[in-house]
Amino acid sequence: MTQEGILIVISGPSGTGKSTIVKEFIRRNPSVQLSVSATTRKARPGEVEGINYFFHSEDEFQKKLHQDAFLEHAVVYGNYYGTPREFVREQLERGKDVLLEIDTAGAMQVRKKFSQGVFLFILPPSMEELHRRINHRGTETPEELERRMNSALEEILHLGNYDYAVMNDHVSDAVQLIESILKAEKASVVRS
Ligand code: 5GP
Repeated sequence: MTQEGILIVISGPSGTGKSTIVKEFIRRNPSVQLSVSATTRKARPGEVEGINYFFHSEDEFQKKLHQDAFLEHAVVYGNYYGTPREFVREQLERGKDVLLEIDTAGAMQVRKKFSQGVFLFILPPSMEELHRRINHRGTETPEELERRMNSALEEILHLGNYDYAVMNDHVSDAVQLIESILKAEKASVVRS
């Protein structure tokens, strides 16, 4: 029988470079399957349907929600986000490791269902650096920047619910740390 894959959950405030870390991690570890979420948020320039997200209308999202199609869901900055349940289950059963990049509310729902998951929280090197990074993205309005900074502070309060904190000073160091954590988790006697 194939051993089940590991469910890896990565959260962290907007602007920590979480998405960059995830992208680099997947590039270096192509056997890990990235879960593509559904969202009601509008696509940003360059984002592709089915690659970055499945972009849904609110009606479509609600329909899927009622069909119990999501492993978890949450409202983040006024938009719905959800993780497709079937896809994650299938991949794990096939022995594939699956990575979810989701917010803290969603991560806590997943924690209840997958206590064996590995929960990682990405931290910015400092709050000043976080502010600078959020500001530099250039896609948000001033109100949205303030909202994102405040919710970043709120998100960091959830750090205690995670297994590991990964500081993103340099992307390659952060990715290496995640790789080491996974190696250790795979060797864990408690897990087997
Ligand atoms: P963004 O809109 O900037 O891509 O993502 C905003 C936030 O939503 C990020 O914190 C991201 O991790 C989170 N997010 C993305 N997909 C999901 C999901 O499927 N579920 C939950 N709970 N959060 C998600």
